[in-house]
Amino acid sequence: MSSTTVTIDPAHTTPSQNVQNFLSTTRKMLIGGQWVDSVSGKSFPVYNPATGEEMARVAEGDSADIDLAVQAAQKAFETGPWGKMQPLERSRIIWKIGDLMYENIEELSELESIDNGKSMGVAKAVDLPLSADTFHYYAGWATKIEGQTIPLSVPYAPGQNYHAYTLREPVGVVGQIIPWNFPLLMLAWKLGPALATGCTVVLKPAEETPLTALRMGELMLEAGLPEGVVNIVPGYGETAGAALAAHDGVNKVAFTGSSEVGKLIVQAASGNLKKVSLELGGKSPNVIFKDAADIEAAIQGASNAIFFNHGQVCTAGSRLYAEQGVYDQVVEGITENAKKIRLGAGLDPNADMGPLVSQVQLDRVNGYIDCGLNEGAKMVAGGKVDHSGYFVAPTVLTDTKHEMKIIREEIFGPVVAIEPFKDVEEILPVANDSTYGLAAALWTRDLSKAHLTAARLQAGTVWINCYHVYDASLPFGGYKQSGWGREMGHAALENYLETKSVCVAL
Ligand code: NAP
Ligand code: MG
Repeated sequence: MSSTTVTIDPAHTTPSQNVQNFLSTTRKMLIGGQWVDSVSGKSFPVYNPATGEEMARVAEGDSADIDLAVQAAQKAFETGPWGKMQPLERSRIIWKIGDLMYENIEELSELESIDNGKSMGVAKAVDLPLSADTFHYYAGWATKIEGQTIPLSVPYAPGQNYHAYTLREPVGVVGQIIPWNFPLLMLAWKLGPALATGCTVVLKPAEETPLTALRMGELMLEAGLPEGVVNIVPGYGETAGAALAAHDGVNKVAFTGSSEVGKLIVQAASGNLKKVSLELGGKSPNVIFKDAADIEAAIQGASNAIFFNHGQVCTAGSRLYAEQGVYDQVVEGITENAKKIRLGAGLDPNADMGPLVSQVQLDRVNGYIDCGLNEGAKMVAGGKVDHSGYFVAPTVLTDTKHEMKIIREEIFGPVVAIEPFKDVEEILPVANDSTYGLAAALWTRDLSKAHLTAARLQAGTVWINCYHVYDASLPFGGYKQSGWGREMGHAALENYLETKSVCVAL
């Protein structure tokens, strides 16, 4: 396999003074409104993905810290000011959190960039506004959570009148476990609806990317969130995460991450039968029909579908299908785009794509590329990168077969496989033949074909003539092994609400 060389200007791995100050001391965890060390006294390293060097240390939470955080969340839920607050007051605090994100957009984008590896410019243009808007969107819902009045006709009580209604109540203490690919956005998707419904939270960020969550803890206190409403415990999945998922004091766990860990969450939750929602992996098909209105636009869209966020997106368009007649043009266009992408540190304003998040992720993605090549795929762009940071070049594979591991499994990197197909009846079963069902896309100018195909695709989101369109108001989630439940939109409120039926004999 050939390799690309990346040179990095040290200026682009040195954070601003402001961020250096934030990183200069071991960051503590947030429990009950206080910044505290871990009970064990341990901390863990945070690496800069552009250099592979340690750049900060963070308090390492485990089950003892999770216990304290759950107690704080219980206290805040049962006896704190949060439960007594009027919905409008809660709404104002949630809105203020969104405002503070915009006020601190430079710092948060920079922290997100050096922690995750993504371009600071992209973080500022995409991750930050989407995350802040999620808080603004859910701030609006806090005042609109309503029950119903329900007419009864109880058959064994003729002549008796009842007044029956439902109350929507917060589920209580919520455990939230999030991944490293969009640290702030995943935090916002989780916290927005939980706070709007009046729950209290223990959040465990990914060990690879705890920094922005900890900064958000400061901003949430500044916004006036009462102590203990959101507790943030960084730590490893196997210890802190597992303890949170299993904790008897937690009424609901919301998880985003791999399907493999999702299954562990379900097992852990079975002890007290806490409610569970899951946002898991994907292997999304992206289908370009030859009657697409604008093949060039489809090619740009398909490039963005796989290369955005370095392919570390649960909805990445990793299986690209191009109809015979436009296949060569699509391969050529995607290859050209892949070769044009400039690799560099997240803080380099001239770089289009940063490093992957970690050595583990780098090894995993390179391993998949090797596996594909060993199984007979042809690499027309990309591959390994010669650098100590965690870089992979945008990679395009052809000559793949549906049975290959790289077509069946989620790679979670900038690696696309392009296959030709004959017509819609041939491609639909292929597109749907996956254990996942998170997203799918299709490109055509034929309106009937577009809607009929969208209806037959087994996916929680179908994009037509576009890709990677997200909005706080649009439900998001997976069919099949891509998850349980929906996030965003008013659908996400259901994850955090109980329904109480109240019946009065009149
Ligand atoms: P992961 O390994 O499943 O980790 C996700 C989170 O779970 C991390 O905070 C992790 O902690 C924690 N965790 C690990 N083992 C655990 C355990 N036994 N009990 C409780 N928590 C545990 O996933 P990842 O590699 O970070 O993220 C990539 C995956 O997330 C991909 O599969 C991607 O498709 C999926 N994803 C899905 C969505 C969606 O909305 N559907 C969005 C983004 C990502 P540590 O990392 O600290 O160990
Ligand atoms: Mg991990």
